[in-house]
Amino acid sequence: MIETTLRISVAETARLTVAERLNRGSSGNVSARCGNGFLVTPSGLASAGVQPDQVVRMAMDGTGTGELRPSSEWRIHRDIYAARPEINAVVHAHSPFAVSLACLRRDLPAFHYMIAVAGGKDIRCAGYATFGTQALSDHVLAALAGRRACLMANHGLVATGRTLALALALAVEVESLCEQYWRASLMGEPVLLNDAEMDEALAKFADYGLR
Ligand code: 13P
Ligand code: ZN
Repeated sequence: MIETTLRISVAETARLTVAERLNRGSSGNVSARCGNGFLVTPSGLASAGVQPDQVVRMAMDGTGTGELRPSSEWRIHRDIYAARPEINAVVHAHSPFAVSLACLRRDLPAFHYMIAVAGGKDIRCAGYATFGTQALSDHVLAALAGRRACLMANHGLVATGRTLALALALAVEVESLCEQYWRASLMGEPVLLNDAEMDEALAKFADYGLR
């Protein structure tokens, strides 16, 4: 995809994170792989109003092109593209239910078969580090091993995908799962699916829909 088109898609996806109630104000950020680098939303601007020409082009060494500063979390986006060739898009959000669960610093267990949509039998919670640091990126990369999404302790979630649409859809799904787990936990201890049940769900996801 040419850079102009990709800039429009990154800005539109940032707007959609607000429409989908994943982000408010300037929380969260969005990126897409572009050539040898990536395009990322600018730092500190309201996600709902990012314009295509405000999206920052980044090289893998962390240098940016343009007047605006890249998202403070550019290291997370850069490190994911460097380590995971199958991933072309990253969505980071401070969605309310994901943040609430991430404050407990617990992995989201196999309480629902849709946990498999993130690629495994649980959705891990990455360890805590200050926003915008390499330490936080390292924690996120570790939590994403064998997965397409993770929670971030006392912070939010990261969802990835082959395309921006898939990364956004996964972020919405992870937020829904966090809400469902929270609701079920209010009424008791959710019954977890066992390894064999999750293996079956994972196998079915391998040829489900367009993924
Ligand atoms: P940016 O505006 O710098 O992308 O920061 C938002 C955020 O979510 C930091 O973790
Ligand atoms: Zn954040």
